[in-house]
Amino acid sequence: PSKQRLLVVANRLPVSAIRLEGDKWDLQLSAGGLVSALLGVKHSFETRWIGWPGVSVHDEKGRASLTEALALKGCVPVFLDDDTVDQYYNGYCNNVLWPLFHYIGLPQADRLAATRSLDSQFQAYQHANSLFAKIVFSQYQEGDVVWCHDYHLMCLPQKLKELNPHMKVGWFLHTPFPSSEIYRTLPLRSELLKAVLTADLIGFHTYDYARHFVSACTRILGLEGTPEGVEDQGKLTRVAAFPIGIDPERFISALETEQVKLHVKELLRFFAGRKVMLGVDRLDMIKGIPQKLLAFEMFLEKNPQWREKVMLVQIAVPTRTDVHEYQRLTSQVHEIVGRINGRFGTVTFVPINHLDRSLAFHELCALYASTDVVLVTSLRDGMNLVSYEYVACQHMKNTEGVLVLSEFAGAAQSLGAGAILVNPWNIREMYKAIEEALTMSDEERKERHRHNFTHVMTHTAQAWAVNFVSELNDTYVEAELRT
Ligand code: UDP
Repeated sequence: PSKQRLLVVANRLPVSAIRLEGDKWDLQLSAGGLVSALLGVKHSFETRWIGWPGVSVHDEKGRASLTEALALKGCVPVFLDDDTVDQYYNGYCNNVLWPLFHYIGLPQADRLAATRSLDSQFQAYQHANSLFAKIVFSQYQEGDVVWCHDYHLMCLPQKLKELNPHMKVGWFLHTPFPSSEIYRTLPLRSELLKAVLTADLIGFHTYDYARHFVSACTRILGLEGTPEGVEDQGKLTRVAAFPIGIDPERFISALETEQVKLHVKELLRFFAGRKVMLGVDRLDMIKGIPQKLLAFEMFLEKNPQWREKVMLVQIAVPTRTDVHEYQRLTSQVHEIVGRINGRFGTVTFVPINHLDRSLAFHELCALYASTDVVLVTSLRDGMNLVSYEYVACQHMKNTEGVLVLSEFAGAAQSLGAGAILVNPWNIREMYKAIEEALTMSDEERKERHRHNFTHVMTHTAQAWAVNFVSELNDTYVEAELRT
């Protein structure tokens, strides 16, 4: 039998396109979480990606040649003009939905200013979602599964169902869904909820996010919440938790390559017998990087015997560098790092190695494998894959590393048993957790790691994708039977 077709719709295509001379394009596949998840389901589905290629192409010839080049990679572009990108993507998605879904309060003045542009931004959001719908509709064949991703595309299920009520549509949110008390401050709260509810299946990383969503529907729309989902006049929209994972084999096999092994050796030589803690985050307010640094500072203050015996390597991947708030965060982080290094450093040693850049995959694997503790201190985080990747890379070591994990990361609900859980707002609690992690007995370390490792190996990204799509297929059949 031929494989079921899966149309994956996300804001960004998993490739970066760079225009070479004329109508030639250089396409680089980016290996994010979603990409590796769906590579793993290749044998079950014929996957096609639909999304924005991330570049603006103004001429018809350019658009045609890019479309052709992308088709060879199983990708279909949705072209957005610059104004739409600005209002929909930078505006509504990144300045309204992202902070709200992560409980980030904007300063009053900024929020007030944002309120004034809200209507035009929401119109652009609707417009962008319509453009996505048009392309999906043009690609759709009967029997296809359409899987929409993330907060960029909350209106897409509705627009698709308007074009074809029999389309099988799922929607998955990769961020937290906030408490309904936060969500209800959004001026267009009802429109978005109603639009999402037209999907056949709605998925979140954790039960808490799913519960928050159902509460928002009952309180704001007055609908009925059931254990299965949300009911509107006899029509059920199924809502459930599908925690994503990683492709652990990708990391484990990387550890066996000569390149990574060599790099691990170099790092261990450089670390010179010291304990090393690791942070790997985009430089975003949700990651709690200043809080992590303050906890490390307090740890050094309270534990003079550890000074010069422990270091923190913080990889801070730049993100949204053109936005004022992010620039401010960068300076704030640099200031704290400078202060701590100035206070506790010596002529030959600094306690914090801070990098404002991303690493190559083999460098990242080597760092994961050669460090003793990872500090994940997110103030809010949909899941947090770094914690999973770190656990995968502790495999085959006899000094398995310790995971210190914020209770506000989705991962706390799956890796909580093996991690030391912390409230990142409580600096004292965090510095105690650092103490505990650095002095933990071998036995406890191994036991905790075993827990986490088993989870990471069994709850993979591939299993996540397969579960979601089969649940969507089942839900759809049940719904058709009811009508
Ligand atoms: N990552 C990367 N290069 C780096 C550092 C991190 O590609 O230099 C990847 C990392 O492997 C992980 C992702 O970025 O897969 C971060 O995902 P996570 O869920 O932890 O946080 P997000 O950035 O999505 O909020």
